[in-house]
Amino acid sequence: MYKKIVSVLSRNSKMYFRNRIMHQGERIIQCLSLVMIVVASGLCISIPFFTGVKIEWKKRPLSLESSPYIQDLEKLCHVGVNGRSWEYIVIHHSATAKGNAARFDHYHRKDRKWQHGLAYHFVIGNGSFSGDGEIEVGERWKKQIHGAHTANMDCNRVAIGICLVGDFENGGSPSENQLESLVRLIQYLSRKYNIASSNILQHKQVHQKCTACPGKNFPFAELKTRLLQLASKGNNHMQEL
Ligand SMILES: [Zn+2]
Repeated sequence: MYKKIVSVLSRNSKMYFRNRIMHQGERIIQCLSLVMIVVASGLCISIPFFTGVKIEWKKRPLSLESSPYIQDLEKLCHVGVNGRSWEYIVIHHSATAKGNAARFDHYHRKDRKWQHGLAYHFVIGNGSFSGDGEIEVGERWKKQIHGAHTANMDCNRVAIGICLVGDFENGGSPSENQLESLVRLIQYLSRKYNIASSNILQHKQVHQKCTACPGKNFPFAELKTRLLQLASKGNNHMQEL
């Protein structure tokens, strides 16, 4: 009798669980069906909007290589010695397709026999041997000593030399990242050392022997416009504060 009761109970419980599993299975199928109906109706609604319209996928976010090379200029330009009173900023191109601060330093030290090496205070890379738009700081800046970037020594004593890697006379023009870094660097330096806009020069504007530097393709007018825009943005921001 006891065994019979147990077997009946066991049979009933098995049936109960089987029914419950089947019930759950049905609910899952019902849910999936509902999802498919929603998706299908969504497609039906959206397809007419795209009929004859070229679908353009959302552009991929800018990669690290093509995004502006943002560096902390305060940290980058910090010097551990007494600052010099800089009055000018002179812009150069390297007149080479490739390069970086270390390579130019080697050339200036070994070939040109300049004791302090790299003639410039800053070099802005083009992605060849340093980042595209990467600002490298030369030893002359760290030690706050004169540059050797123009043939005019009076100018070298008071002018910060910035070189952009590239040949903008016979090659192309600066990359967007280089230009953006140059704008930021000039804005930072001219504010810090109170350098007037009229004292931001291209190498060829310095009175000395003839040079095309930084090349006919260097967008000097564009640079000046961007500096003005940045300055007015800064002023507006100050007024808002
Ligand atoms: Zn130059």
